[in-house]
Amino acid sequence: MKKHNFSAGPCILPQSVFKEASEAILDFNNSGLSILEISHRSKDFVSVMEEAQQLSLELLGLENKGYKALFLQGGASTQFLMTAYNLLEKKAAYLNTGTWSTKAIKEAKLFGEIEEVASSKDKNFNYIPKGYSIPTNADYFHCTSNNTIFGTQIKEFPNSPIPLVCDMSSDIFSRNLDFSQFDLIYAGAQKNMGPAGTTLVIVKESILGKVTRQIPSMLDYQIHIGKESMFNTPSVYAVYVSMLTLRWLKDLGGINEIEKINNKKASAIYQEVDRNPLFKGYAEKADRSIMNATFTLTEPKLEELFNDLWKAAGINGLNGHRSVGGYRASMYNALPLESVEILVQVMKELETQA
Ligand SMILES: *Cc1c(COP(=O)(O)O)cnc(C)c1O
Repeated sequence: MKKHNFSAGPCILPQSVFKEASEAILDFNNSGLSILEISHRSKDFVSVMEEAQQLSLELLGLENKGYKALFLQGGASTQFLMTAYNLLEKKAAYLNTGTWSTKAIKEAKLFGEIEEVASSKDKNFNYIPKGYSIPTNADYFHCTSNNTIFGTQIKEFPNSPIPLVCDMSSDIFSRNLDFSQFDLIYAGAQKNMGPAGTTLVIVKESILGKVTRQIPSMLDYQIHIGKESMFNTPSVYAVYVSMLTLRWLKDLGGINEIEKINNKKASAIYQEVDRNPLFKGYAEKADRSIMNATFTLTEPKLEELFNDLWKAAGINGLNGHRSVGGYRASMYNALPLESVEILVQVMKELETQA
């Protein structure tokens, strides 16, 4: 039986994508070859890469606006240092909203001075700081749009006087924003776009080429742009599956349509968290993520019963991250509303049985 997969990442992808991707392993495009055995320079794969890049820009509304889309390796974690390598000359400004921002700051410190404009560490990252100011003398401002572990999400981005860099690993393609306010966006594929193994980078070309340091080729955005993400062998299969997921999203009506579904899923779960006296939300209400809902039990002794109930209902991946505890329901694009409805039923069932 197919599970209701609330896993935080790698995570659920559309069933139709799993089917098509599995068929391509045996025979890709009726070529008599598997996608796993073809050259990354073959015509068939070059067109996959081009379509993946084009769909990324199209879905974000960034076509013909001076942006390039790249599919790189090394995960979002490599972007923590690559952004700094390519953009940081003297000083950069960072907003610290959780584990991933903290890691990004740690890497960037290797390249220059970091000004932390605000942090929500004082309350174990259960809210998004607001009302901070961004220094005009920094090279860029970095933030994390969605905090996968703590379940908070930036709803309104600051008007940044300097280039705006954003880690969107866990909410890219999930909600409509004016994406042209960002100068560089990066996202590991495995949270909302594809399998692990590739990272999408969207970069405005005009912000590059300004640092004086020498940049190793593999870490140089301009080199990857010049080679259209084929400087070295790309993650062929991960890019292919990401492309299929982007096609699926476009056929569904794009970000506007998926956002409506995502909002429905998020309201269903948060409504129950707030209604049911056995649960308590972790994140401050105004900053709640529509992708990762974090909550705890108000009566810890019910843990075993609750775990038994959700497992019996075919739910997978509901345990919270160790730094928060409790539970985390990750509701990425491909998770159907029905799965959230099943979870809500289980939460109500706990109340009946407790
Ligand atoms: C998962 C995650 C990362 C790390 O991604 P890797 O691809 O494992 O390096 C970074 N930032 C955010 C917001 C994440 O959710």
